[in-house]
Amino acid sequence: MKDITRRKFFLGTFLAGIAASARGALGAAIPEGMRLPGISPQAAAKSARPLIISSANGVNALGRGMDILKSGGDTLDAVLAVVNVVEDDPNDDSVGYGGLPNEDGDVELDASVMHGPTRRAGSVASIRQIKNPSKVARAVMERTNHLMLVGPGALRFAQAEGFEAMILLTDRSRLAWLAWKAQTTKNWAPGLDSPEWKEKLSMILDTPERLAWASHIRDVVLRPPTGTINCLAVNQKGDISGTTTTSGLAWKIAGRVGDSPIIGAGLYLDNDIGAAGSTGKGEENIKIAGGHTIVEMMRKGLSPTDACLEALHRVARNYNNDKRKLDKFHIFFYALNKDGVHGSAALWEKSYDGKTRSRYAVHDGSSARELECAYLYEGGSIED
Ligand code: ASP
Repeated sequence: MKDITRRKFFLGTFLAGIAASARGALGAAIPEGMRLPGISPQAAAKSARPLIISSANGVNALGRGMDILKSGGDTLDAVLAVVNVVEDDPNDDSVGYGGLPNEDGDVELDASVMHGPTRRAGSVASIRQIKNPSKVARAVMERTNHLMLVGPGALRFAQAEGFEAMILLTDRSRLAWLAWKAQTTKNWAPGLDSPEWKEKLSMILDTPERLAWASHIRDVVLRPPTGTINCLAVNQKGDISGTTTTSGLAWKIAGRVGDSPIIGAGLYLDNDIGAAGSTGKGEENIKIAGGHTIVEMMRKGLSPTDACLEALHRVARNYNNDKRKLDKFHIFFYALNKDGVHGSAALWEKSYDGKTRSRYAVHDGSSARELECAYLYEGGSIED
């Protein structure tokens, strides 16, 4: 305990709704007794087609997807166009290139796709060296007789399909990993006999440019982040596709797979009903098969927002609604139905920073904007 406190001290020193909609999916009334409480701050979303939504980190890329939808393109092309921007972005450390690595310093990515009109799916898990795992998931779907490939087999398949293998660590994510190691073990820091003994992180952040990353690195070391992009789209005709792509939980054990590549958890859709996805603590989502749960709730008449809240109630029920445990993680659900009604709900009112509201991103044809999520509990998670 003392040692942990001391390590945190070093790091600090040196790095200084109540359901809103009265009508459910496809216009059906929500069955009495099915609506569970949560806090939904905005009026029920109007329906619009085409429509594309994502986790908040996709807001600047949604326009690309909408352009494809407006020009009559395929919904899977649209959602992939959005997430590929984030996968390619070295400054987004939760997805693709620049994603934070596992505890060994290897970036391992998970992704899934579903294509509503052809009722197909594909996914990859723990794939290394390929910056667009969502595209590989699509290739699994379109070019194999399988649905899911993992680890070295997924990499070999990707290379056979012409994907370029590359180093996915950026300078910043590598330094964040070294800082995490310096914090968690004495071995990756100067020894007692070193003049730099107390300055282990200044050894890592040794240039003004690197020092500028200090606050970001402090955050990701002290609160290992999760992060992902989920994107769902419905076109003019009512066809639906979705994708979820992630580098998973920072500093995870090699081989850990989250919910993002699990069809029925991080992503699920039925072209007759709607689509759902998730970001946040994947383990909690897998236990309730959140994506599938939400689509089935929409089938029974719940609105997307209510269905997301129902999934959150199941997550909370797994801990007997004990907020002292639930505040150790965060989780978001996103959904749209075939009519183009959208919704999202988060376990906590506040986002990861504990200050701003939990949000998701929507483009309904006019502009991309962030909207506040409904939520189950006020306040924010405190995460260990
Ligand atoms: N859901 C992802 C996972 O558990 C991480 C995240 O969304 O933050 O791998």
